[in-house]
Amino acid sequence: RPTVGVLALQGDVREHLSALTRSGAAAVPVRRPEELATVDGLVLPGGESTTMDKLLRAFGLFAPLRERIAAGMPVFGSCAGMILLADRVLDRPADQQTLGGIDMTVRRNAFGRQVDSFERPLHAPALEAGGGLLHAVFIRAPWVEEAGPGVEVLATTDTPATPPGRGPGEGTGRIVAVRHGSLLATAFHPEIGDDTRVHQYFVELVRENAVAATQHSSI
Ligand code: GLN
Repeated sequence: RPTVGVLALQGDVREHLSALTRSGAAAVPVRRPEELATVDGLVLPGGESTTMDKLLRAFGLFAPLRERIAAGMPVFGSCAGMILLADRVLDRPADQQTLGGIDMTVRRNAFGRQVDSFERPLHAPALEAGGGLLHAVFIRAPWVEEAGPGVEVLATTDTPATPPGRGPGEGTGRIVAVRHGSLLATAFHPEIGDDTRVHQYFVELVRENAVAATQHSSI
């Protein structure tokens, strides 16, 4: 059973811990560098990315987490977590930093101020595990404005319904789930509700990564 941490500085930590446990992981909250050192993978929950950036630095987690990401640890970021994993961010305060790791440009609060939240079915073949469309919950969500060549697009807002945007049609065809190596990010919140398929996908990624690391070190 892989040990998967949830960054527990802010956001819906409990829901992620529960979804990870239901997905077969040993799930633990992470607040300190010593705790980070024990996990095989980490979830960055939704919340507020500017606050999380500041808290990461205040808790001495920013640099160690960057090192773990560079060393290949799987990380799943949802919403604010997606922003933290982006190499580039639009519509951010000048002093906001990110951990980075995914070669993408993310726009904060992209789906528009007039509609802070919405839910919609989402077509995401890699994440559906034969169970049909995902039910995606967006809360002041970002979208991926541009993704580099190494980034696999897992879901866009193309089908079957059109979400809101800043102007007519702007929310359509937007990238809202990506994978780059062992980093996974969604603009929506899969920890809300009973559907654990995204967490199962991530736990499997962590498991594969841990097995590969063990094989590597025994050669
Ligand atoms: N709008 C938030 C931010 O910019 C993200 C919202 C969320 O995580 N639900 O960090």
